[in-house]
Amino acid sequence: MNKLGITLISIFLVLVAFYFLVMRPEKYQESDVYDDILQRGYIKVGINVDAKPFGFIDDKGDVTGYDAELARYVARYILGNPDRVQFVSVTPNNRMLKVSTGEVDIVIATMTITPQRREIIDFSVPYDAAGQAILVKTSSAITSLTDLNGANVGVIWGTTAEKNMQKMVPTANLIGFKSYNNAYVALKNGSINAITSDDTILSRFAIEDSTVKMLPKRYSREPYGIGFKKGKCTKKLKAALDDTINDLKQKNVLLRMRKKWLE
Ligand code: GLU
Repeated sequence: MNKLGITLISIFLVLVAFYFLVMRPEKYQESDVYDDILQRGYIKVGINVDAKPFGFIDDKGDVTGYDAELARYVARYILGNPDRVQFVSVTPNNRMLKVSTGEVDIVIATMTITPQRREIIDFSVPYDAAGQAILVKTSSAITSLTDLNGANVGVIWGTTAEKNMQKMVPTANLIGFKSYNNAYVALKNGSINAITSDDTILSRFAIEDSTVKMLPKRYSREPYGIGFKKGKCTKKLKAALDDTINDLKQKNVLLRMRKKWLE
């Protein structure tokens, strides 16, 4: 090799060394949310505490329910300790924003996996599923979706039922609520004629109050997933969440949770 060749190779090696030792490209790479959780030592979980039996506050003031229990399984899987969870209250309307801004690492909040939502955030494999149902007063003449034509129908802002209703019964007068409990109070006092949302949540009102009933028909299928940031930064996190859910499915834990909380 001539002198010029040796010089060029030397320059090349110096540049490569400079790039890796001084520029340190890995420091510009976004870390995985999974690693952030490990480093922090706890996981920030968005949960809807107005969605009994999935998320609610018990007599002792603790967050409890199906989604809360699942969050603790996730913490156990990732951090080896089910108590390493910090719950952050979310609503159907703000939960995607809280994921995108990083205020929460994950959302476990009866959240349906939909193609539209998938454009903004990512989801785990489904852990359960619901169907859109209608809750009315026991004395109501409403028996199906078509009877909602011209009726005052309560929906929770940001839910799939809100979107579905605009397509299925555009003639219904949709009244939006922030919480399930507010919608329930409105149904009881007669300011709305029905509420439509997931059967898994509405059934609770019918179980606890015989003056309201859930109609038998379902109008959608709503697979529930754990939501998190979309992209490369959640590759490890997604694998961990999917593993957790698949493991819980295989051991029939999810089935037991469904029985415990929904029956
Ligand atoms: N599963 C439905 C949804 O994701 C309704 C339940 C809820 O979000 O509160 O929109």
